[in-house]
Amino acid sequence: MAKVSIENIRKQFGAAVAVSDFSLEIAEGELVTFLGPSGCGKTTTLRMIAGFITPTSGRIRIGETDVTRLPVHKRDTGMVFQRYALFPHMTVAENVAFGLEMHKVPKADRDAKIRRVLDMVRMTELRERYPRQLSGGQQQRVAIARALAIEPKVFLLDEPLSNLDAKLRLEVREEIRALQRRLGLTTVFVTHDQEEALAIADRMAIMHDGIVQQVGAPDTLYERPANLFVADFLGKMNVFTGRSQADNVFQTDAGQRIAAPGGAGATHVGVRPERVRLQGQPAGGNALAGVVESSLYLGSVLEVRVQLEGGNRMVSQIVNGGARVAQPLPGERVYACFEPEDCVAFTQ
Ligand code: ATP
Repeated sequence: MAKVSIENIRKQFGAAVAVSDFSLEIAEGELVTFLGPSGCGKTTTLRMIAGFITPTSGRIRIGETDVTRLPVHKRDTGMVFQRYALFPHMTVAENVAFGLEMHKVPKADRDAKIRRVLDMVRMTELRERYPRQLSGGQQQRVAIARALAIEPKVFLLDEPLSNLDAKLRLEVREEIRALQRRLGLTTVFVTHDQEEALAIADRMAIMHDGIVQQVGAPDTLYERPANLFVADFLGKMNVFTGRSQADNVFQTDAGQRIAAPGGAGATHVGVRPERVRLQGQPAGGNALAGVVESSLYLGSVLEVRVQLEGGNRMVSQIVNGGARVAQPLPGERVYACFEPEDCVAFTQ
């Protein structure tokens, strides 16, 4: 395994900047997700690591080797694509063998390697089948086996689960993570699905318009987003605009005063819906009076929308406690209560 060093890479297609000044060090055995909306530059970055695209400027190293201008097959990377990219006229085993052949693995060694990786992805019994005789999940397992057969130093996955249905997506995701951990693979996993990125990553890089917004562990990014984009992209957040007053007090444009630490110079304060409790009496560090506007039933949670006195709305997410637990009803007067330490202040 090897670390990956991405140093100030930039990619322009004509006048359009797809990736602007991206730097990141990925440790040996670490799984990093690139997360962002469509067109933010994550695939372009991944393809630059793989070697399909040459950066306009900057440098990429795998281990100590500068690979910036090396062709794909000399980089020791194994890549898995969204659309499996299996050869339809080859069996499962032949598809895996093809990758080994391309990497000039001696014929005598190929069989053992094929057996090993097919076993890893639980596809041994289906080794003589053709791709059309496999489910999407099975095809993606073959693609993973093919990428891993060459024992790459870096494992690259470009939205590998997007074509699978919701249940299978979870299953294959767990398999990829388990395999990655067991083999200690340095891995980059591109996705636009925030839950997927949070669940699988050691660290995540959030991208927007070709620019990295924040890099960090999933809980850091979720709890302490650096800006509005990250806060909003990683789940729901109640965001107030206004300005910070004295230390630790934020005045919203609608006149509410919110205790929120670290707010000097802040223009926005956010709090996650699951940190907002609805109570009949004010309680805790912040308690904003309001009236329940609506309650949305989402199965495991209820999402209650509150119209606050003076303006602004807040959403509170409450665990669904079943019929025996009284639920807030539209029209009911409540206090939206939340603690200062659960607030995040932004300067943009
Ligand atoms: P998606 O999730 O839709 O795949 P992405 O985050 O992976 O999006 P990229 O595919 O990296 O985004 O594209 C980043 C930007 O670069 C986009 O604006 C895209 O239109 C542009 N782009 C990508 N490839 C090319 C190309 N070959 N020629 C011109 N523009 C390109």
